[in-house]
Amino acid sequence: MKLSFHTLRLGLLGMAIISISFAGNSQSVNDYRSRHRNLLARQNRVKDKIRVEESQNYARGLYGDKEADRADIYSEGWNSDRVNPYQNSNIPSSKVLDVSDYHMPVKHKVVTSHFGYRRQFGRMHYGVDLKASVGDTVYAAFSGKVRLTKFERNGYGFYVIVRHDNGMETVYGHLSKFLVKPNQNVKAGTPIALSGNTGRSTGPHLHFETRYMGIAINPEKIFDFTNGKTHHDHYTFNKNSSDNANNHQSASSGRSNSRRRR
Ligand SMILES: [Zn+2]
Repeated sequence: MKLSFHTLRLGLLGMAIISISFAGNSQSVNDYRSRHRNLLARQNRVKDKIRVEESQNYARGLYGDKEADRADIYSEGWNSDRVNPYQNSNIPSSKVLDVSDYHMPVKHKVVTSHFGYRRQFGRMHYGVDLKASVGDTVYAAFSGKVRLTKFERNGYGFYVIVRHDNGMETVYGHLSKFLVKPNQNVKAGTPIALSGNTGRSTGPHLHFETRYMGIAINPEKIFDFTNGKTHHDHYTFNKNSSDNANNHQSASSGRSNSRRRR
């Protein structure tokens, strides 16, 4: 009995001491907080901002802006089954495209038909025709990811569209066989198909298009097909250049929808 009373007394004393010290602590902390609340709040905001900027810079340092660009490149219009999935996109008036890491789409170095408006057919030719036999290997022109493998009876026949790290898309038409599947990553030079004579085609060849944001660029402005190389390491896309299909459209008789797929 005496022991337990002693214990209780000790316990009460202990609780009193603890509560006093807590009260003292909390009071001083509260005082400090209230006195410095504004200051601390301001400090925190600045600190947060610094932290965000630091991590952004850190990410840029690690991955570069290219990595951020890459995420954009492979999201916009990715699930579209259109040849031009950018119809509602904002197209920059100018963009420098890196074409330094390339591979010629076929081994032959002969352009059998050029890019541009074809008066005799009354429509645009959105790419070039390259000499190829049925069964020739077709290679990805740049590294990237396959967006579409599709068939169009009255146009491209069997065709592949690859989107590239440089922001472009390339189209390969009249194929006889696919060697890749959608969402497959490819390097410049990866075999993607065998050439053929499918769709609206007057003989075996590869129909090859280079596009940026859906706008067809004359492939011969990028590639020197005769010499099997690119003209330069970079190609500067200009929205209103005569190198691409926009200008040919307006130059060619004002046909209202000449950007239809071909
Ligand atoms: Zn063609």
